[in-house]
Amino acid sequence: MQHFPIFLDLAGRRVVLAGGGETAVAKLRLLLKTEAHLTVFATDPCAEIEAWAEAGRLRLVRRTFGPGDALCAALAYAAEDDPEADARTARLARADGALVNIVDNLKGSQFITPAIVDRDPVTVAIGTEGAAPVLARAIKRDLEERLPAGLGVLARIGKAFRAAADRLPMGRARRDFWADYYFDAGPRALAKGEETVRPALDRLLEVHAGRRPDAGRVAFVGAGPGDPELLTLKARRALDTADVVIHDRLVTPGILELARREAVLIAAGKEGFGPAVAQADIDALIVEHARAGAHVVRLKAGDPTVFGRLDEEIAACEAHGIAFSIVPGITAASAAVAGIGQSLTRRGRNSSVRFLTGHDVAGFADHDWKTLAAPGEVAAIYMGKRAARFVQGRLLMHGADPDTPVTVVENAGRTDQRVIALRLSELEPGLTAATVTGPALILYGLAPRAAETALADLPDLKEAAL
Ligand code: SAH
Repeated sequence: MQHFPIFLDLAGRRVVLAGGGETAVAKLRLLLKTEAHLTVFATDPCAEIEAWAEAGRLRLVRRTFGPGDALCAALAYAAEDDPEADARTARLARADGALVNIVDNLKGSQFITPAIVDRDPVTVAIGTEGAAPVLARAIKRDLEERLPAGLGVLARIGKAFRAAADRLPMGRARRDFWADYYFDAGPRALAKGEETVRPALDRLLEVHAGRRPDAGRVAFVGAGPGDPELLTLKARRALDTADVVIHDRLVTPGILELARREAVLIAAGKEGFGPAVAQADIDALIVEHARAGAHVVRLKAGDPTVFGRLDEEIAACEAHGIAFSIVPGITAASAAVAGIGQSLTRRGRNSSVRFLTGHDVAGFADHDWKTLAAPGEVAAIYMGKRAARFVQGRLLMHGADPDTPVTVVENAGRTDQRVIALRLSELEPGLTAATVTGPALILYGLAPRAAETALADLPDLKEAAL
């Protein structure tokens, strides 16, 4: 992010603009929405600017912009549509200490004016750092359609009511009141006429003031494999309303971004053999926040019910009478198998599939290797990077075919997904040689579809394909 978005209070501040043509008019239209003191320098101003000057909405100085003209100005716009004149204005204004924008010249500007969706006092600013003005316009159009024109009216009335609403306790009670207003009671009242909005707010406040404080609760939410688009709508809603989000280390920043801005984010996860927060401490953390009345989202990678120590956390909630719910997510096995164009089960090949963990609390985990070693078996091995050699040894010892396909999918379901197609005999040192740094799922018994087809059709290409 090269340009940091801020909203500047221009009330009573001086803003200068050099230019008298169409470009100047377009900028002035925006600036006239503010309460800035506008001064325009133009030798030959167009009629619109003349009219604004006559109406007292700006001060018009009929000469070229000169040294000292931007003194005490917060912002200066060079809008003459003439590179040389604009560069001169920019140089002078900068010397006067103003922040300078040359219209349509990103490089020569110290700040840029974003595309704006105006539902005053609600303002949405859209910036693409000059990369894609077309995109900014499309987003603006989309938002214009989505944000009802009445939103500005509701926000204005709501703003004047803020002090009255302060009688509600801070936090969730107040938030619930405002959510009710903006998304339910407010729009309904507005449909009947603007004058009914304020009385509706009074009534709504009485209703909310009479409510008992909300009890805390916990949602165990699956974050999926890491791509925000693979979140469920329920997961998104939970993140949107969370007071506290306690998340695994595997949960990606893109997903954490979706948490309510005011939510407290706590990283409390275990990752492979790295530093870990003790499970008992995580349990205690969940309980502590829920008991304080918070809506806690316990955000777990993939599906919370798969190798997530969910039961221990649920037990902690139950022990304290805390209400909880589970929002399933897409588990790594589903993402990984989708990533190689395969199916976890297939008629005639495998009618069951196992989810295994490579290691558990006691170390490398033992399984029914004999059954797994049979032809056609499929298993999704979680936390298997370190255990790969152990798994390989056990399976071979129990008679598995050394040619059984084994596919490692790193960062499954993410843009940086990597597929390493191996055979059981080469799982190690193949996996180590591939230097896998992200989370990885080992699909035993499955090859990427392309490789599989190549093998079936052209047996002599087997070596090349793998
Ligand atoms: N609850 C999670 C699993 C937690 S155990 C789920 O349902 O997916 C952690 C293991 O999951 C990691 O060691 C890795 O084997 C696997 N994993 C999680 N996310 C992954 C991803 N995006 N790609 C590959 N494997 C992943």
